[in-house]
Amino acid sequence: MQHTEGGRVMERGDTSTSWGDLAALFDGAEEQEWQEHALCAQTDPEAFFPEKGGSTREAKRICQGCDVRAECLEYALAHDERFGIWGGLSERERRKLKKRAG
Ligand code: SF4
Repeated sequence: MQHTEGGRVMERGDTSTSWGDLAALFDGAEEQEWQEHALCAQTDPEAFFPEKGGSTREAKRICQGCDVRAECLEYALAHDERFGIWGGLSERERRKLKKRAG
């Protein structure tokens, strides 16, 4: 009897571990899905991380035509990305947006 219970506990433990792994895999897949459509990946990535005071115009122009702009911006806000242009917004613009959102 005790043996069986012990076995069941072990099994349950195993199951929860693989669920955790699956969830992690799924998260990763979800992130990558929109990134596959990222227009910036096909252009010069340096434009998206300009030097301080550098122009962000070219990067923002590319974002305007990007299919996954909303996902990209959402990701940057959720992960508190501090550097670079994401979803057509600069670091300062994202900060303002966050403040406005409350
Ligand atoms: S919105 Fe801009 S930064 Fe985001 S994936 Fe598209 S091109 Fe890249």
